[in-house]
Amino acid sequence: APHQPTDLHDGLDATLVVLGAKIRPGITVVKDYDRSLPKVPAYAGELNQVWTNLIHNALDAMAGEGTLTLRTARDGDCALVEVADTGPGIPAELRRRVFEPFFTTKPVGQGTGLGLDVSWRIVVNRHGGDLRVQSRPGDTRFQVLLPLSEGPR
Ligand code: ADP
Ligand code: MG
Repeated sequence: APHQPTDLHDGLDATLVVLGAKIRPGITVVKDYDRSLPKVPAYAGELNQVWTNLIHNALDAMAGEGTLTLRTARDGDCALVEVADTGPGIPAELRRRVFEPFFTTKPVGQGTGLGLDVSWRIVVNRHGGDLRVQSRPGDTRFQVLLPLSEGPR
C-alpha cells in the first residue's frame, strides 16, 4: 500500500509548471484548493502522472478560450481532486469508453488513448481510490478520490 505522505497541492502546482508551455493565452487557470486537506498516503510520482494526463486532456478539449479549474476538497474519508474544463464535453455514450486502453478521438499521432487507462490503474488499483467523470457541454469534470488513511484493504 502507498505510504509516502503526499501534499496534493504541491503535485498539482508542479504539474502546472511542467505543462506551462501548453497553457495558451486565452486559457485561464483557477486553483480552488482546500488548504486544510491533510497529506495523503500515495505514490507521489504516479499521482503526478495522473494530474499530467487529466490536465493535458482538459487543455486539448479547449480550443481558443477556456477555463481550467483545479479543485481540492475533503469528501468523507477521501481527498477529492477535480480537474475541470469548459470544453465541449464527452457524449454520454462515450463516457465509459474513455477509460478503455487505446480509446481516443484524437487524430493519429496526437493521442495514444492510454492516458485515462493509466490514470485509472494508478488511482484505483494502486491507491484504492476512484476516478469518475461528469460531463455536459462547457463543464467536464474528472474527479479523483484518494483514501486519506491507509487502513486495511
Ligand atoms: P488520449 O488523450 O491520448 O486520446 P486519453 O485516455 O487521455 O487518451 O483520453 C481518451 C479520450 O477521452 C480522448 O481521446 C477524448 O475523446 C476523451 N476525453 C478525455 N478527457 C476529455 C475532456 N476533458 N474533454 C473531452 N473529452 C475528453
Ligand atoms: Mg490523454
